[in-house]
Amino acid sequence: MNEYDSSRILDLVEPMGYVVADKPADADCYILNTCHIREKATDKVYHDIGRLKKEFRNKKKPILLVTGCVAQAENEEMLNREKYIDGVVGPQSYHKIPDMIKKIEDSEKKINNTEFDVIEKFDSLNLVRNSNSKISSFLTIQEGCDKFCHFCVVPYTRGPEHSRSIDEIIIEAKQLIDNGSKEITLLGQNVNAYEYKKQGSTYRLADLIVKLSELEELKRIRYTTSHPNDVTKDLIEAHKSCEKLMPILHLPVQSGSSKILNLMNRKHNIFEYHKIIENLKAVKPNIKFSSDFIIGYPGETEDDFNQTLRLIEKVKFINSYSFIYSSRPGTIASKLDNVNLEIKKKRLVTLQAMLEKNNFMYKNSFLDNSTEVLFENKLDNQDKYFGRDKFLNSVIVQSEKDLTGQILDIKINNFNHNSLFGKILLNEKRNFAA
Ligand code: SF4
Repeated sequence: MNEYDSSRILDLVEPMGYVVADKPADADCYILNTCHIREKATDKVYHDIGRLKKEFRNKKKPILLVTGCVAQAENEEMLNREKYIDGVVGPQSYHKIPDMIKKIEDSEKKINNTEFDVIEKFDSLNLVRNSNSKISSFLTIQEGCDKFCHFCVVPYTRGPEHSRSIDEIIIEAKQLIDNGSKEITLLGQNVNAYEYKKQGSTYRLADLIVKLSELEELKRIRYTTSHPNDVTKDLIEAHKSCEKLMPILHLPVQSGSSKILNLMNRKHNIFEYHKIIENLKAVKPNIKFSSDFIIGYPGETEDDFNQTLRLIEKVKFINSYSFIYSSRPGTIASKLDNVNLEIKKKRLVTLQAMLEKNNFMYKNSFLDNSTEVLFENKLDNQDKYFGRDKFLNSVIVQSEKDLTGQILDIKINNFNHNSLFGKILLNEKRNFAA
């Protein structure tokens, strides 16, 4: 989502005459768009500012704005602690950046914009065309979270759940498609909680997917990140009926133990999670799943951990994320950290080895088989093109011809930890290049 936000911030400041600087040292204005989800996020921001101060020691100080979730969480404290910062902007207030820059240019006053003006933000963004011209683009449709998992800061930094108007989303999707996008990933902290009411009708994520799939030049649709409780029947049905909806779902589970899920306040148990997976597989047999895992959450016993391993073995997740639990200030779980660090590290190694083994087996199954790839870009200084298949696997092929924007069947002949490698099959089925 920060990638989407950064690109929209650029759209907002371009009319003021700002363009992306070739070198950091050439910049008149720095916007540090921060994420609070990882440990020590705040420290990293102060480190970055330290580097910036060194860089500009003998030059005119650039305007410095800190945006995103760290700015939201720290707000006034950040302005007091680091005088080099000219303004802090929460993720729901970044539409105010042009105005802030203008005021700072004029008066050099410090500004704090950390209100939750999410409606005002999207109203302002709708007036500015999305200029992103990537083959695969992000589009935010929903923000915020009302779930309040006990370990998570998002409800405090991104605010309550808000869904954008379906008409605005379609307009922005058309802009992206006109710019060349063939694939759109719909974004939200709880993307499948999307719900927009208009003239007595309620539109949910499934309705939006169906509407977007009617746009002919759009070839692929994805969405992330989902909460298991919001995987509704109509969404499962969309996975069956909508060919453009890709057969991979990132469905964070965090733990395979119902006891731990309850302590986390995830609001579902592991049997309900299994049922969702079963229901999706019933309508889309080739669907794959990726997930997030927190290891050593307060109260996690060896038995709870083994339940997580059993879940991984059963579902065979691909490309998942796993982290040792570390507390986030201000969350309910922040004072409960009670699993020994060495135990947590050991469990993480065991779990990642299992994920890695499953990933190896999965990638190995592609050897000598073909997979359909949408090519996104050429690799720097090489006759190689990068794309992704339907399951989000990165695929690299050698080609003297420009493959950007094409969807081609690729026969896989090698792989490593990150990518599949292959050759274009000669009986190319589809070619969307101009
Ligand atoms: S549902 Fe996701 S974003 Fe919301 S509180 Fe839980 S982990 Fe955080």
